[in-house]
Amino acid sequence: MSDRIAPRDDLTALEGYHSPQLDVSVRLNTNESPFPPPPGFVDAWLEELGTVPLHRYPDRSARGLRSAIGESIGQPPPRVFCANGSNEVLQTLLLSYGGTGRRALVFEPTYALHSHIARITGTEVIVGSRRDDFGVDPDSARALIEQHQPEIVFLCSPNNPTGTVDPPATVAAILDAAPGLVIVDEAYGEFARESALDLVDDDRALVVTRTYSKVWSLAALRLGFCVAPPWVVAELEKVVLPYHLDVSTQLAGITALRFRAEMEARIALLVEERERLFAALDELDGVTVFPSGANFLLFRVSTGPGGEDRGHAVWEAMVERGVLVRDFSRWPGVEDCLRVTVGTAAENTAFLSALKDILREHGAR
Ligand SMILES: *Cc1c(COP(=O)(O)O)cnc(C)c1O
Repeated sequence: MSDRIAPRDDLTALEGYHSPQLDVSVRLNTNESPFPPPPGFVDAWLEELGTVPLHRYPDRSARGLRSAIGESIGQPPPRVFCANGSNEVLQTLLLSYGGTGRRALVFEPTYALHSHIARITGTEVIVGSRRDDFGVDPDSARALIEQHQPEIVFLCSPNNPTGTVDPPATVAAILDAAPGLVIVDEAYGEFARESALDLVDDDRALVVTRTYSKVWSLAALRLGFCVAPPWVVAELEKVVLPYHLDVSTQLAGITALRFRAEMEARIALLVEERERLFAALDELDGVTVFPSGANFLLFRVSTGPGGEDRGHAVWEAMVERGVLVRDFSRWPGVEDCLRVTVGTAAENTAFLSALKDILREHGAR
């Protein structure tokens, strides 16, 4: 007999996480860096890799990587925990601090994986909402926290998909009210002026997560980390699989930090391009663009093809012109919105001219 066994009851309603990929010439949909790693990085990395004994397990606690990261951001290594992408960091945090009978609070619209991973780990998700400007309101956050007493509160700053940056005062107010961990996902932190990193302290239940996927041009390698009090890091190390972070990833993370100057130049360039895109979108009739501290911009279309479903119709028309952005038009709270990743200057220009064509064809000036 081969009846298929069903998964856990609480998983049957879940769908996997998807970000559709299409074969187009201008791909501005997944917030990666438009640039490959700096010249010299791969050679330097392979040279390091040539020196390690591959028949031995890697350093289980990634000491070299943790001290290199700690040094680069002015944090002691015992506060650094590394994993295969910041999503694995989030999963480990939820395995340690979430679970059956526990709650995580998120403020929608935000990064879908926070609630997705929470549910996979059996954690109940409490959904708060953001203000119309997509900021988290400290007073309503405090009220929700008092009501639900969540073990985990998720912030995302800059927030994906809106780009909104929460000021440190908001983070501090939420920390003050929260009975458990406050996790600030700063996957795009390097593109913003404000960060919660300086608030991390040995005696405060604050965790800030970062990734090599966006700013460090290493999405293919899967490396992320968090900065947290050492007593949190110790719990994460208990829960994560032994030797989860392979030696090539550890060495890539250390080696990348030697190319900091190149990375900072790219950040400056992408921020400059973001501001150019913002100004151009802001001038278009029928488009509302939201301020962003990240390497992407969210914009709402209020004209164009498609009638009631105009956001999606504009997305389709963009695809026909070879430009792929991310379609959020059917998401609650960001109806008719699309998200464009800041690409190279040429890609951004191609995106703008496709959008202008589409809007012009449909009667906007
Ligand atoms: C892209 C992104 C991540 C990155 O995940 P990795 O696993 O590090 O690639 C994390 N959080 C947010 C909000 C993101 O947009």
